[in-house]
Amino acid sequence: MTSDRFDGLFEHLLRDAQRHRLRRSMRVFEHVAPGRVVLDGREILNFCSNDYLGLSLHPSVLTRACAHVRRHGAGATASRLVCGTGPACAAIESRIARAKGTQAALLFSSGWQANAAILPALSRALGGDAQVYVDRLAHASLHQGCRAAGIRQIRFRHNDLDHLEALLRARAGRPGRRVIVTESVFSMDGDRCDVAALAGLAERYGAFLYLDEAHATGVLGPDGMGLSSLAGGRVDLAMGTFSKAMGSFGAYVAGSRALCDYLINACSGFVHTTALPPAVLGAIDAALDLVPGMRAEREALADKADALRGALRSMGLDTGDSDTQIVPVLVGDERRALALSGALEARGVLAAAIRPPTVPRGTSRLRIALSAAHTRADVETLTGALSDALEAVA
Ligand code: PLP
Repeated sequence: MTSDRFDGLFEHLLRDAQRHRLRRSMRVFEHVAPGRVVLDGREILNFCSNDYLGLSLHPSVLTRACAHVRRHGAGATASRLVCGTGPACAAIESRIARAKGTQAALLFSSGWQANAAILPALSRALGGDAQVYVDRLAHASLHQGCRAAGIRQIRFRHNDLDHLEALLRARAGRPGRRVIVTESVFSMDGDRCDVAALAGLAERYGAFLYLDEAHATGVLGPDGMGLSSLAGGRVDLAMGTFSKAMGSFGAYVAGSRALCDYLINACSGFVHTTALPPAVLGAIDAALDLVPGMRAEREALADKADALRGALRSMGLDTGDSDTQIVPVLVGDERRALALSGALEARGVLAAAIRPPTVPRGTSRLRIALSAAHTRADVETLTGALSDALEAVA
């Protein structure tokens, strides 16, 4: 039993969120097939998941996950530095380092945990006076990492490298090392940063370049292993997740041997947590086997996303600068985003309404995430349902 003595505080804040139409709640989804879920007993098309390649239900991934459980058990039983480092951890880290062209790689429990934990460790290494430049639309976990480190971020306009350079130049004479933090593919906008240009800037200003590849991993770049290679070895730290296109869970950091060794020693979110469980390691291992050979799926995914953007734009909708499998429909007002999402759901299509604080105020949207498992007919169903939903909501 627990006490409810403080519930008045929580309820007050919840009422406040409700008043601003920002209260969130959860529902139960059963993932019956890639691109499809059962919700309230009804199977509907799912355009919300990050399972971009449909690997979460791929037979080889499931088989390898089960085999690892049978062989190694349900849990890792300890943190990595105690006795949680099994053969699969080391093997996957070597595979990631090879795939990313780095000296080393490290597994983390999740992408959120990696970002939230690495930035404080990095900040200790780079010094308290480090100037940390962060894209304004960077993921919450990156902002969380900065907050946890006590960093006062210098935010640059989204993907605006001229603005970033102006900020760097303006502080050129000040003490402190420089760090640039950004994403290769932005989770809510589906646009990409110019990795090569960023790396050039980082080099010119002697800045450490931190690149989050959560939504590029599996989908973009050579063998689908992200965009950091476009910088020709000039990204200092590339992190990515196994929770999206790779179909399971967990995250990686790829970088120099010294950087990874430092994190092994100084990053609390790596040191003081139990290692990933065998089932997850098995799933990651299988995904790493599959992803390089999924070029046709990646190309089909990109073609579908192009076709979807074309259809949405011809309906007069704003898809921003999206040029990946993530296609936002920018609607602005959160009520309208919620209403559209509800109207789509009534028509058998799931597309989440994304509202502040996940996105800036006034930029609420539907976030459509395509999967290799969606057929052209699925995409046509989506656009047809959206056309009806727009009429219904108007
Ligand atoms: N980084 C970005 C850009 C993300 O979009 C996400 C997840 O939404 C994360 C990190 C966190 O990854 P995970 O879901 O593995 O915790």
